[in-house]
Amino acid sequence: VSHELRTPITPIKGYADLLRRRGDGLPAQKRTKALDVIADRAAHLSRLVEDLLLASRISGDQEPVRSLVISETELTALVTRAIEDFSADADRLRYTSGPPVRVDCDPTRVIQVLTNLVANALKYSPGTSVVRLGVTVRGDRGCVEVRDQGRGIPADELEQVFEKFHRVEDPMVMSTSGTGLGLYVARHLARGMGGDLTVDSVLGQGSVFTLHLPL
Ligand code: ADP
Repeated sequence: VSHELRTPITPIKGYADLLRRRGDGLPAQKRTKALDVIADRAAHLSRLVEDLLLASRISGDQEPVRSLVISETELTALVTRAIEDFSADADRLRYTSGPPVRVDCDPTRVIQVLTNLVANALKYSPGTSVVRLGVTVRGDRGCVEVRDQGRGIPADELEQVFEKFHRVEDPMVMSTSGTGLGLYVARHLARGMGGDLTVDSVLGQGSVFTLHLPL
């Protein structure tokens, strides 16, 4: 976590310093790049801090998340909203919005969970593969599936990925960055809304994460 928190600070400080010292003389393209990096890294830091704060508030798995604001919400619109943030990877995302599905949830938190699942699906699969999203109704639940064609998760770690700080990566190799907090927080939020977050995966072929919410 300390590594993840420190890493974005270096480019933020470096580019801010560059803009302060030489901003006026820089070509517009370089200035825009510097501002984009600062904004992107700051957004990343802020997500990390949010996850850390939330994780530190979650003391036991049964404890509901007190800050949730539940309302009746249309789920397909939330999926559309969540994937808007991935414009840079739009060509890898597949989602066709179907008939409306009304669920009880905290819309801000659902977007947070979906953003996390889509970011993971993109991060843990080859850059050329596609990520498919779908909304279905199963019994008394509205569900969002996020399906990737990535590295998959070993069968004996399928539940562990929802534990605090758990990462499948070998810490000595670490080909991707992350804190291992995202899914822990995401499942807690899903359960706090009366739903759940589950996973199916085949190692080497891909994973399907499903967010379940009460209709
Ligand atoms: P982070 O991505 O920051 O490590 P998460 O809690 O979101 O933390 O995920 C925990 C771990 O679960 C990841 O480190 C990764 O090993 C595994 N994981 C999550 N999503 C996927 C996915 N779509 N495909 C393969 N592995 C995944």
